[in-house]
Amino acid sequence: MAIQTILTYPDRRLKQISLPVETMTEQIRSLITDLTDTFTAAPGCVGIAAPQIGVLQRVIIVDVTRSASKKAKKDSSIHGNLICINPQIVESQGSIMFREGCLSVPDFTGNVVRSQSVTVSFRDEKFEERTISADGFEAIVLQHEIDHLNGVLFLDNVRSFKRDVFRRVKYQ
Ligand code: ZN
Repeated sequence: MAIQTILTYPDRRLKQISLPVETMTEQIRSLITDLTDTFTAAPGCVGIAAPQIGVLQRVIIVDVTRSASKKAKKDSSIHGNLICINPQIVESQGSIMFREGCLSVPDFTGNVVRSQSVTVSFRDEKFEERTISADGFEAIVLQHEIDHLNGVLFLDNVRSFKRDVFRRVKYQ
């Protein structure tokens, strides 16, 4: 078990493009364990990407069942815990606006327009090829995490900083 420190904006590593994983190695297995541990330690966190813990490799984890928001999960596909290696959006449809947050941008949330549904192909933790279709909240989270692998934060996707970015309420 190894909870890693989450890099926060404007750390330059968050702006870099991550490399594809060629084969399953001990290093990738331990990266998946670290991501799982780090993500589990953050309450209500629904997704994490390897670059957020400083590893520039194309691995993300998404699990929308961890969200406390019933509203977010309504009309959303729910696949449970998805460990995605080299995820790729192969098809997308529609559009949906959602107020996003990110462990790497702790002080702000923002309205981002995403595809309503996506088909994603990836390799799972056994390095087997899988393709899933996701919509609603789960589709949004998948797009958000895949963006991290391309050095893109939700702040890069907002239309207007003035209208669509909000300071997070701080609890003392
Ligand atoms: Zn994020």
